[in-house]
Amino acid sequence: MATRPPLVVVGSVSADIYVEVERLPSSGETIAASSGQTLAGGRGANQAACAARLSYPTYFCGQVGPDANAILVKDALASAGVRLDHVKSVEAPTGHAVVMLQPGGKKSVINVGGANVAWPMSENSVCRLTGNIEQLIKRAGGVLLQREIPDAVNLEAANIAKSANVPVIMDAGGADSPIPKELLKCITVLSFNETELGRLTAMSTNSLGEVLLAATKVQEMGVKEVLVEMGKNGSVLVRDKEPPIYQPATLAPVVVDTRGASETFTAAYAVALIELQPPAEALRFAAASASFCVRNEGAMPSMPERSSVLQLLKEYPVVEKYSIPNEEDCCVLKYRRGEGAETERITAPIDVSTREVNTFEEQVSGIQGTRKVMEKLKIGIVGFGNFGQFLAERFCRHGHRVVAFSRSDYNDVAHRMGVSFHRDANGFCDEHPDVVMLCTSILSTESVLRSLPLERLKCDTLFVDVLSVKEFAKQLLLRILPPQVDVLCTHPMFGPKSGRTSWAGLPFVYEKVRIGEGASMDRCTRFLDIFASEGCKMVEMPCKDHDVHAAGSQFITHTVSRILGKLNLETTPMDTRGYETLLKLAENGDADSFDLYYGLFVYNPNAVEELQRLERAFECLKEQLFGQLHQTVGERASLTAKRIPVTH
Ligand code: NAP
Repeated sequence: MATRPPLVVVGSVSADIYVEVERLPSSGETIAASSGQTLAGGRGANQAACAARLSYPTYFCGQVGPDANAILVKDALASAGVRLDHVKSVEAPTGHAVVMLQPGGKKSVINVGGANVAWPMSENSVCRLTGNIEQLIKRAGGVLLQREIPDAVNLEAANIAKSANVPVIMDAGGADSPIPKELLKCITVLSFNETELGRLTAMSTNSLGEVLLAATKVQEMGVKEVLVEMGKNGSVLVRDKEPPIYQPATLAPVVVDTRGASETFTAAYAVALIELQPPAEALRFAAASASFCVRNEGAMPSMPERSSVLQLLKEYPVVEKYSIPNEEDCCVLKYRRGEGAETERITAPIDVSTREVNTFEEQVSGIQGTRKVMEKLKIGIVGFGNFGQFLAERFCRHGHRVVAFSRSDYNDVAHRMGVSFHRDANGFCDEHPDVVMLCTSILSTESVLRSLPLERLKCDTLFVDVLSVKEFAKQLLLRILPPQVDVLCTHPMFGPKSGRTSWAGLPFVYEKVRIGEGASMDRCTRFLDIFASEGCKMVEMPCKDHDVHAAGSQFITHTVSRILGKLNLETTPMDTRGYETLLKLAENGDADSFDLYYGLFVYNPNAVEELQRLERAFECLKEQLFGQLHQTVGERASLTAKRIPVTH
């Protein structure tokens, strides 16, 4: 494949320190935070991470200081796949922010620009980017800018891009000062929310009509295209001499955390634009990407991979027409452009969507997002094998703290994931997780559970199992665990292979076996929300029913793929689609341990019957084949007998 011209993001990067406090300290006072964590952020860095996650080659050009925060932010960008060749270390602290999260969703932020605002300038405040960055921009597919670094840097980058006919996409967020006129003239697409648009144009943006009018004012300032996100009211792209394009918001099943959603929207649009997707498709892509971002915690950790976005787009039918929902709003635009001087100015109500989604405004104000941020769980995983690690990785991405316990040594892999690992059950229980998740093999679960010093745990811990057989697990937990402990039996019907990229649409079966009221129920809901927010199909079902269905589906699938595995099937020069399916199924047989399969057989009382049904089906087919063969042979024999004269 030909090398794609990269996306170059010039902008800010920051280490954001999130602390949860009951209230803000008063002057001279020191208070304790209930939790704290430092995450990589900054508008520029977030957008670069998003584009790289969407599998577009992306360079980030920014500045950091000679400190530990620089390592943290660079690691986060590198792990998203961003190229960091042009990140410069300067004599200023890496940009950072202290975000104080208070009850009720209030958020107070102190921002330290540091290296982000310490770009070298000449005396007359002109910035010259290095020759390397200049060359990079000239061969780029697009340049993405925001407003958390000096305007002079943005102006220099935009001028270089313009001189090389490289499109410049700019996110108007990050500063509320006016955007310099010279900069506006270099911008291909300027992206806003309604508030930012209102501020720049000094116009009201309370209705779609007003948004369109304000957008045309921005075009008069020299910007070619104006992109406006309006939260649950969708988004609109206003283009020169073309009808505006409207895109409804893409529904997010649950909003966990809103950080990074607007950056995701703009970055995804930029990627689609560079890939030359039609503008309507680009908007759709951006809306779907942003919807994904709000389902998980954190900004960078929740930015979606391309495969997840494409999967989501498949589930969302293309809207019938990419047009403004209200004809009158088009008239407003024509009027503004002088195409219909008689048309009156109309201010349509902005609520053009009837779908129940959370607005970007809510997201930005962080009311819901912050509430969830304050409700992180400490999840203890018992059995850190194949499946335990698979779940742990996703829990970490959601920002939950994970501790693990296993008989084998998984220190290295746990360390890489940021999981605290124990081979000693006492040490594990002394961590006092809110939730203990049993991810051991079906066969070993009883002995492992009995070996745990339960008295060292918090007395109201929530126990969750993921065993692929459910009634056995339910009875086991009820028998062994003390009555004050909550019990949730679950079966995520997917594994590291089928759920590698996305869990969207995959079934998650569960029974709330014994869950207390109030805080207990709330904790259980928060735990289930992890799977719901990933888009899993949540199926609440009694354990007994699960086993009946699982024997007829899962056990049969495992059995057939293991039978096929034993046939040692190989590809041929003339494989059919059907045969390819068989080859894949045969491969899957080895993906899970034999212990797992044996557990399905021994501990699901319906499995034996399914095995017998399979045998009977095979016998029945053989009887049918040989029966017909005998009949044909018999008929032929009697025909031949009739033709041959009998001689005595
Ligand atoms: P597994 O072979 O069923 O279980 C491996 C885990 O069990 C490892 O953590 C292993 O610990 C532990 N284990 C095995 N024997 C043990 C013993 N005698 N003492 C202590 N620990 C022992 O493979 P898995 O795929 O990871 O599955 C784990 C659980 O998840 C199973 O209950 C399975 O039914 C369920 N599940 C799996 C999938 C899937 O796709 N794989 C999907 C849904 C549910 P060490 O690694 O430390 O040896």
